[in-house]
Amino acid sequence: MRQTKPLPQTLQLAPTLARRVHQLREFRNMTVRDLARWSRFTAARIEDIEAGLETWLSATDRQLLAKALAVEPALLHEVEARSGLETTREQQAQAQYLSRAVLEGARDLPCPRCGYTLKCSVQEGFDIEGQPIRFAKAFCLKCPYVLR
Ligand SMILES: [Zn+2]
Repeated sequence: MRQTKPLPQTLQLAPTLARRVHQLREFRNMTVRDLARWSRFTAARIEDIEAGLETWLSATDRQLLAKALAVEPALLHEVEARSGLETTREQQAQAQYLSRAVLEGARDLPCPRCGYTLKCSVQEGFDIEGQPIRFAKAFCLKCPYVLR
């Protein structure tokens, strides 16, 4: 039986795809062979990923590997080498769009990381000059995504 309990909040995730896949595999008590079997990758390919020879995954491969490791695909995507700058810019645009939508009254918005429903609200406050301002707040009910 596969261990699929959620990752503990205290788990410090490794900063590269190679180390993170290795870490998650160990955490799930899987050998390279086990992970290969669950993800339908070859054992050699798992070894390549853990050695840092493959630094990014196609959407389909990411889904398979994430599923085998029982984590959200976003958890692998965020440490893929190719996704560095692009993702940051993409995330900024996404955050601006979400923020505007929430301020305009949208509520049932999908999470940009996992697609689940975001909990959205508008918070009122004052800026440093005492002018009233409104901020959009949103967080995912399923994954760690928080609108910043
Ligand atoms: Zn989410």
